[in-house]
Amino acid sequence: MTRIDSIVETDGALILGAGIAGLFTALKLAPMPSIVLAGTRPGLSGSSAWAQGGIAAAVGADDSWQSHAADTIGAGAGLCDRAIVELVAREAPERIQDLIRFGAPFDRKADGSLALGREAAHSLPRIVHVKGDGAGAAISATLAARAHETNSITLLEGFHAVELAMEAGRITGIFARAGLGPDARLILFRARAVVLATGGLGALYAVTTNPLEARGEGLGMAARAGALIADPEFVQFHPTAIAVGRDPAPLATEALRGEGAVLVNGRGERFMSAIHKDAELAPRDIVARAIHRQIVSGQPVFLDCREAMGTSFANHFPTVFAACQAAGIDPASQPIPVAPAAHYHMGGIASDKHGRSSLPGLWVVGECAATGLHGANRLASNSLLEGLVFGERVADDVRGQLVQGPLRGAPPAPPRFASPAPPHVLRSAMSRDVALERNAEGLRSALDVIARLQTTSSEPALLNMTAAAKLVTAAALARHESRGGHWRSDYPQTEKTGTRTFMTLADADRIAATVEASPQRANK
Ligand SMILES: Cc1cc2nc3c(=O)[nH]c(=O)nc-3n(C[C@H](O)[C@H](O)[C@H](O)COP(=O)(O)OP(=O)(O)OC[C@H]3O[C@@H](n4cnc5c(N)ncnc54)[C@H](O)[C@@H]3O)c2cc1C
Repeated sequence: MTRIDSIVETDGALILGAGIAGLFTALKLAPMPSIVLAGTRPGLSGSSAWAQGGIAAAVGADDSWQSHAADTIGAGAGLCDRAIVELVAREAPERIQDLIRFGAPFDRKADGSLALGREAAHSLPRIVHVKGDGAGAAISATLAARAHETNSITLLEGFHAVELAMEAGRITGIFARAGLGPDARLILFRARAVVLATGGLGALYAVTTNPLEARGEGLGMAARAGALIADPEFVQFHPTAIAVGRDPAPLATEALRGEGAVLVNGRGERFMSAIHKDAELAPRDIVARAIHRQIVSGQPVFLDCREAMGTSFANHFPTVFAACQAAGIDPASQPIPVAPAAHYHMGGIASDKHGRSSLPGLWVVGECAATGLHGANRLASNSLLEGLVFGERVADDVRGQLVQGPLRGAPPAPPRFASPAPPHVLRSAMSRDVALERNAEGLRSALDVIARLQTTSSEPALLNMTAAAKLVTAAALARHESRGGHWRSDYPQTEKTGTRTFMTLADADRIAATVEASPQRANK
């Protein structure tokens, strides 16, 4: 399929992605017109609808934005952009008020104030939540309902975006497919501003907590169009995915550990107290690697909630309870088997404080963006927040920057389609070689797999995935230290001064080419 079947144009913004970041941006843009395009149904779409813990914000009486900022910087392992952290922590309470105005039903205490949960590496309770562990579903549904009621927003689902359209050096639209197989249609969406809100890349890994649509395609599309990418090597693994062989793996939220649940190995021994002063509430990368090492050493790991929660589990954490029940586990009387799983991408399309990417006409928001907030390791419950804070900022900036006057000439050339190579080959390589513990040999081997896949098919969706995977892997190979979410067994030290990674796909290609040309590979 190489012809454009139809062209849809808007004088406003085109937003790709209907998770919390995309929907919030559209609502903040209103009454300026926007089209929100997504693979799946707004309200149920993306990782947003699956978020359990909630949103971090200094809204408690004894909290301050400075404390929230300090905790974020503490978790970020030396790579946070302080100015970005401070603006996010300062603006957080106002964005929570926005959600309340939109109708988000946050849990409240008897006196009517917001009930606040505590999560790992936060110095005090500051997570607003809904029905215990249902924040993502409730907030996504609320924003989708408001978007449906807003005349200026057009919501379109069931589209698979595959390529950015560029005209005279400016991003002016997106090519997307509707339908499958021979009946698929190719549509060019054109707009005066394009916003990517495409989420993360957890599903590039075989073991993930993310929905399978989180395949880094937005990141790949932007990278293939030449965008600057930041910190791609930093992938966060959630320590406690429920290990019952499901793809994706259901999550046992961190809030359970906040409530006192403990990690034990197959011998019933707690092991986190010996590793970190905060034990089970240590930063995520430390907990995840400790669990990984237990498992590699032959010890299964369990989250034991019996003493901390007992029979109140079902009421406080209904989502996790349902996932346990579906797997035949009663968490009130049995420990939950857990394992780390790819969960969150700290890196992404490099963005400034307005959400602008390096490509004219393209803004980015939410997990697909790298603003500098998370550094090398995200503080729990800061990601939905980032989508809200930058959703507001992108909306403001797009309004001020909208290109005026006639914009469109002849449409750009459409992408060419081919049969995709199987993504499971890529997913296995990423889980084996680019996960919690990395080394040069494994990373080179993953780059080999990626290069082979790229030569087997020119399918744009696959090329978006391989581009995203290549950026993660090449940046991991180039970083000769361990920091935050990036751990090299051959470079276990952390350098004194941390520097962020900024690279293009061409830079990643150059790193991969060095690997192919190395004498060790030639002898293989
Ligand atoms: C199980 C789980 C629990 C979590 N819990 C929390 C939490 O408690 N607190 C917190 O802050 N964060 C949490 N996170 C992380 C957080 O949910 C995500 O970072 C956040 O929801 C990302 O929002 P987003 O709007 O950027 O992307 P998403 O919500 O992932 O939305 C991406 C959108 O892009 C669309 N899309 C992507 N690619 C394409 C394409 N090629 N074509 C068409 N459409 C496309 C998708 O259909 C979707 O609409 C959790 C994540 C998971 C997986």
